[in-house]
Amino acid sequence: MSAGTPRSGHLDLCYQDDPELLPAAEAMRRIHAHVPLIEDREQVALDDALERILGEDVIAPRDVPGHTNSAVDGYALASAVLPRAGEASVRIAGTALAGAPHAGAVGAGECVRIMTGAVMPEGTDTVVMQEHVSVTGEQVRIAAGHRAGQNVRRAGEDLRAGQVMLAAGTRLLPAALGMLASVGIAQVCVRRRLKVAFFSTGDELRSLGEALAPGQVYDSNRYTLRGMLTRLGVDFVDLGVVRDDPVLLREAIDAACAAADVVLTSGGVSTGDADYVKGILEQRGQVGFWRIAVRPGRPLAFGRLGEAVFFGLPGNPVAVMMTFYQFVQPALLAMQGQRAPPPVPLLDAQCPEALRKKPGRVEYYRAVLTRDADGVLRVRPTGRTGSGLLHTMNDANCLIVLPEESGSLEAGSIVPVQPFFGLV
Ligand code: AMP
Ligand code: MG
Repeated sequence: MSAGTPRSGHLDLCYQDDPELLPAAEAMRRIHAHVPLIEDREQVALDDALERILGEDVIAPRDVPGHTNSAVDGYALASAVLPRAGEASVRIAGTALAGAPHAGAVGAGECVRIMTGAVMPEGTDTVVMQEHVSVTGEQVRIAAGHRAGQNVRRAGEDLRAGQVMLAAGTRLLPAALGMLASVGIAQVCVRRRLKVAFFSTGDELRSLGEALAPGQVYDSNRYTLRGMLTRLGVDFVDLGVVRDDPVLLREAIDAACAAADVVLTSGGVSTGDADYVKGILEQRGQVGFWRIAVRPGRPLAFGRLGEAVFFGLPGNPVAVMMTFYQFVQPALLAMQGQRAPPPVPLLDAQCPEALRKKPGRVEYYRAVLTRDADGVLRVRPTGRTGSGLLHTMNDANCLIVLPEESGSLEAGSIVPVQPFFGLV
């Protein structure tokens, strides 16, 4: 890996105040080119499989549904019985319940009272909903207008025996757990969890429970990191706060790299007097890049240190979250072997405020997306944009993502929006 100098093709797009910044897309490309795939796999019970990444394809061992069955409560009959005009009258020959099939064949002129999920009796192919018939004693009268084969769920229409029902690399979400249970699978092969070690750097940082002297701040980054890592389903080791001391930092980085697949640090990657992290990475490992054309988040060091992947995140709390979501999270997913899900499309929304921006870097604005009373999707920045203002991240439900080439926008412009949350 070489240091982060943009290729000449990108120079014209570079942030004019700092032509050395690496474009975001190139940073992402380098990350994907240099993170290793975790090969180890393990068996887990379905009970423990939520959010794990499948280590191999799962082949359906049986059809689901296993039998052709009724989709509604009603009367099962042969479609030949359905009248083209007027009414037909058929006799109820028995009952089929879910789990209690009707024994024996159904003759011409007969039907079976059937409940949702009950196996279709022999000789029947169609179900008429109970709301669409009139019943007198054992006779059911059916009017015209029904379709042959209606209200029937075919064997194998959900899953077919022998098909790849879930592909290797699938993140197991609730629907996938249900699918596995539906074919009777109680254990799955998943990739082992990634191990991520992290610590914060800064002489001013104190851990919770300690008293604050003037100028000191509580270390919040380790808590946002814990939250984000927990949601990704990785194992993590919290190594606390390390002082701005090159010897201590070197020791901490070496220990973390020996203990984990990925090491995250926050703070100390700028060009201040006490910013040693990038220098240590250069000395002991390989730097993929360390400054990217993204705001917030400009100082982001990425590299390899022995077997471990290293991200030196910025110190500012919002920048930590932004660089994590945009760069670290995709890297962790790739290392866990998660198949890239179809990208969530950006939405277009109207921004009633003017946005100031210089071309040459991607800018993210914390924002709130609403559908207003006039039916228009609008997105409003949460207010001040300082990357120390963590509450703006909490107030937001989306990001406005202005691409590299974009300059300032006037009020009322349509802007691309990345929502924070999906449904599942
Ligand atoms: P640095 O990148 O080390 O220069 O830090 C930039 C800013 O982020 C400074 O104001 C730091 O005090 C602040 N900061 C760094 N690390 C943390 C942390 N773990 N929690 C809260 N604030 C932090
Ligand atoms: Mg610092």
